[in-house]
Amino acid sequence: MVKKVKIVEIICHNCGASLKNKEKTIAENPTVHFKAIPAGSKEEKTDIYLSAELDDFRKAGHKFPKGTVVKFFCPHCEKEFEQHNAIKCSTCKEGLIILHSKNGALGLIGICPKTGCNHHKTNDEIPTNPPLASP
Ligand SMILES: [Zn+2]
Ligand SMILES: [Zn+2]
Repeated sequence: MVKKVKIVEIICHNCGASLKNKEKTIAENPTVHFKAIPAGSKEEKTDIYLSAELDDFRKAGHKFPKGTVVKFFCPHCEKEFEQHNAIKCSTCKEGLIILHSKNGALGLIGICPKTGCNHHKTNDEIPTNPPLASP
């Protein structure tokens, strides 16, 4: 039986652009492209690509040391995808970054910004109360 792969397409909540990147692939799938820097750093933002496959935590591009909390930005409009401190990673307790997916049934996806912490939440696990602050 062929494993059904769930590919997610993330949309920027600010400019509406898709973060899908077809040039950079992981296991032949398109990736989700972000600009990223370590939290609190004033460095130049670097490119980071996450696997677009749900439950696949492989990454490409810049590598941050394990345990680094990373800030993610839209590669098109450079708006930050902010951490939501009310919605925590159930593994490391860091506030999750909530992303909007184009996949209707999936809706919101929360990803943990800590490097090496392979955790995310999908729509049905993200509490809507307290409501997400709209940008
Ligand atoms: Zn954007
Ligand atoms: Zn975590």
